[in-house]
Formats: sequence, structure tokens, C-alpha cells
Amino acid sequence: MSVQIQHLVEQIDVRKDEVIDLLKKLIEFKTPAPPARNTKDAQTFVADFLRERGFSVDMWDVYPNDPNVVGVLKGSDADHFNSLIINGHIDVAEVSEEEEWELDPFTPIVKNGVVIGRGAADMKGGLAGALFAIQLLHEAGIELPGSLLFQSVIGEEVGEAGTLECCNRGYKADFAVVVDTSDLHIQGQGGVITGWITVKSTQTFHDATRRQMIHAGGKLFGASTIEKMTKIIQGLQELERHWAVTKSYPGFLPGTNTINPAVIEGGRHAAFIADECRLWITVHYYPNESYEQIIKEIEKHIRHVASADPWLRENLPTFEWGGKSMIVDRGEIFPSLEIDPNHSGVKKLAAAHHAVLQENVVVDVSPTVTDGGWLGEAGIPTAIYGPGNLQNAHAVNEQVSIEQLIEYTKVMVTFIYEWCHTQKA
Ligand SMILES: [Zn+2]
Repeated sequence: MSVQIQHLVEQIDVRKDEVIDLLKKLIEFKTPAPPARNTKDAQTFVADFLRERGFSVDMWDVYPNDPNVVGVLKGSDADHFNSLIINGHIDVAEVSEEEEWELDPFTPIVKNGVVIGRGAADMKGGLAGALFAIQLLHEAGIELPGSLLFQSVIGEEVGEAGTLECCNRGYKADFAVVVDTSDLHIQGQGGVITGWITVKSTQTFHDATRRQMIHAGGKLFGASTIEKMTKIIQGLQELERHWAVTKSYPGFLPGTNTINPAVIEGGRHAAFIADECRLWITVHYYPNESYEQIIKEIEKHIRHVASADPWLRENLPTFEWGGKSMIVDRGEIFPSLEIDPNHSGVKKLAAAHHAVLQENVVVDVSPTVTDGGWLGEAGIPTAIYGPGNLQNAHAVNEQVSIEQLIEYTKVMVTFIYEWCHTQKA
């Protein structure tokens, strides 16, 4: 660790209260999703914070009142030195009426070494730590040779790909850190894709035709789409079991690759035979798989299931995959992310962790999903690394340990400095 960095790291202990205040400030902005469309004030705060520290800021509406913010601090020798994206989501999990919080979830409190409030762990702690690291570098007058990009995105909690929008807008870097909840582990992740499977009859029948449809001599070729959907569900369970037996990935318990029949909608009225049934599924897959591959596997299997049924064979189920928002078009994708432990960004991050905590960082996989997959899919080597643990994410009295938040801030200031002072490979 250079003398300059050593000095900054020491300052963080002295200025601990400022880090806590920054986190409290972020928590006070009420940004739960759902309902979403409430992040403008928080995002304006982040945009101003970055602007005041020399960043040029791009802020645009992804949805009304839900803007993304990307700040760019161009490096003094950007062509030759490593660039870095720091990414985090500003929205937090919803708070339902029945939740019994000690205090208002958006009035943060400090107690017994923790900060309590919605978003403390997921993930305003990570944002606060990274922003404070930026503040320290700025105040020390340190000019980074490599470029630093800070992305504060919206909609993560409802599968709205604020991060995908940043990628589509062309923001790239040599490495990205998603500062989402990881308990200071360096993590990759499996992927999630949701989909709708529809079984539809071309004809609509009265309830009174059921006898002709299902009994000998009835001679009516028709079916209840609800009953046919049970075959599809059974088929999905068989595939799920097959995956559990045949696939695995280090760090995941066997069978983590689940297919959840989450929502079913079907039938129009009790006086009809159900002529349409739709099933909403959530599929979890491993970091070394892609959603394109998963879609193919499911569709192929379900087509086989359908072809073994005389009616489904003539009325094949249809599929709609993914979506841009769980609340707008009822669908989402979180691409998977594999960590390359030999990538220089991962190594440098691990070294920064070691320098601050005097222990080796754990490199593993997140049991949940983050926006890291979108950055990875855009070809940016990416790691998840943030404070807070998942027991607290989305929980009542959500909290983050102050000690961990401070350690995190120290690691981030060290890593940003070191990575952006390293020549491009
Ligand atoms: Zn999160």
C-alpha cells in the first residue's frame, strides 16, 4: 500500500461518522420498488455529489421519475490506464404495511454498531462506501490516470434493467464492481429468467360439452387448457429433477437450478371449458449457463411432453421469455456471471481486501442475483463485492455493520486507486 493510500485509509477511521451520515442520507430517500417511480430526488443527490467531485454526469429517465445516473471521471491518461465501473442500484425492497420495524424504515438509526433502515444492506451501504471513497480521493487531490465511472441505477428490485440501459448507452470499462450485498465476498452469480407458457384452445366450449370431450363416444376433440397445463407443470418438474441430478456448480447446493411455477392464470368463467391457461415460471440456472441455452432446453422438453398428448400435439404451448420489468410487462432477466479468479481486476480487488482486513477474501457465488450479469454480458469483466449480508436484505430492521461498512470503504478507496493506477494489459 502506498503512503498516499495508507493516509486515506487512516482518515476513514477518523471520519467514520461522515460515512454513516452519508448512508443515513441515502436511506432517508424513500426509494422502494415496488411501487418504484420514486428515485428522482435520490438520484439527483448522487448526481450532484459526483458533479461536485469532478465527474461529468449523464442522467436520463428510464421511467418517469426513475432516472439512471452515470458519472464519468475521465482519467488523466485514460488510453493507457485501467478504467473502472462502480455500479449499484438506488431502489430498495418494498416495505409492506404489516412489517413491524423498530422505527420508520426510512428514518435510519444507529444502534449497537449497526445502521438500521431499509436499504442499509441492499444496497445503500455499498453505494455510501463507494461514494465516500470517491470523496476522499477527490479531497486529496489525487488524479487517477485511468477513468472512473459511477453508475447509480434504478429498478433492480423489480427486474428493471437500469444497468442494461447503461450498457446499451455504451458505457464500458476494463473492470466493474457491483457494490451489492455480498458480505465482503467477491462473487459471481447464477442467472434468472422468467417466462410465460401459454396453452390455448382455438375453440371455446360451453361447460355442458365436457361429457362429450372426456367420455367414450363423445366425439368432441377439445380439452380444458387448465388440465393440459398440469401436464406441462409435471414436465417442468421432471426437467427440474433431471437438472438437479445432472448439473452442478461449485458453491451452489445441488438442485439450486430450480423451475418454479410461480403464477397460474386460466379459464374465463365457470360456465366455460377453460380455453386459455398461462403459467408464469421462474428459472434459476448456473453461472456457466446462458439464458438462451436454458430457453432452448425448456422449450425442447415441453415440446416433447406436448407431443405425447393427442390434444397438446395439435395445440402446442407457446412461450414468452424475459421482460423488462416485473411491474410493467411481468418479466425479468438477470444474466449469470462467472468470476475469473485469475483476472487482474479480481486479483487486485482481493489484494486490496487483504491489505485492509489482513485476511484472504472469500471468492464464491451469490445465492441471489444482481445487475452484475448485465455488465458481464456486455463483455465487461465484473465482480460483485459489497457490504451487508443477505439475511438482512429485504428484511425487517434491515441493517449493516458499521465496522464492515468502514472496512468496505477502505478496500474501495485502495482498489480504485490501485486499479486506476495500473496500466492496461
Ligand atoms: Zn440489491
